[in-house]
Amino acid sequence: MKILQKGFNYSQDGPGNRLVYHLQGCNFRCKWCSNADSIPLDNSNAKEYSVDELFDEIMRSRMMFFDGGGVTFTGGEVCVQSDELIQLLKKLKSAEINTCIESNASFPSIKNVAEYIDYLIVDFKHFDDEMHRKWVGVSNKTVKENIEYFFSTGRQIHIRIPVIHGVNDNPQGFADYFKSFDTSNAVFEFLAYHEFGKDKWQGEYEISDGFLPSGTIKKFTEIFENYGIKTVAT
Ligand code: SF4
Repeated sequence: MKILQKGFNYSQDGPGNRLVYHLQGCNFRCKWCSNADSIPLDNSNAKEYSVDELFDEIMRSRMMFFDGGGVTFTGGEVCVQSDELIQLLKKLKSAEINTCIESNASFPSIKNVAEYIDYLIVDFKHFDDEMHRKWVGVSNKTVKENIEYFFSTGRQIHIRIPVIHGVNDNPQGFADYFKSFDTSNAVFEFLAYHEFGKDKWQGEYEISDGFLPSGTIKKFTEIFENYGIKTVAT
């Protein structure tokens, strides 16, 4: 598997203390991406590991998985490497290691991957397909289908919405989309725009006015909560 970087964090990408792997390769091209070097499928800075090598490394780290922690796979987009990821997740499940993925939910294979994980994080960039194509580069059709599938199965899902001024800072549009589903097993998180990683675009960064006016995240939270939709801040 191609891994761009790895390291521990606490409670940011799933519960407890976690070993987080950033997988190389993404099928989206979000104009605000803070990990632009993870987008190409090939990157000389990414390292190749076998499934067994990663499993052994994770098992050696298990003493660090305190407070309900474990291992998280993020990207890039994890489903670009879904075949190998599923092999690894099966081994981790047998070893009773807590697992999490963060995904853009654009691959049908996320349904198979999700069967082997304990905590599912999905990013949702825009409710409007035309705007999604404009800012991300592809349609949101499969993303919506996958999220709606998880709502219908009632599995736990944590949905992250990165909020960028002038791109998607319309809380009502998001709330109107989500209010028509049973979201009782979902929790929503709103991430305020930042420009960390701008340098990785090497002059191609196109967001010029993305910082949010104060109160925007509060407005998102209030509108969702008024519809009875659970929100969380991490
Ligand atoms: S889905 Fe994530 S990794 Fe891929 S381009 Fe968008 S922000 Fe970057």
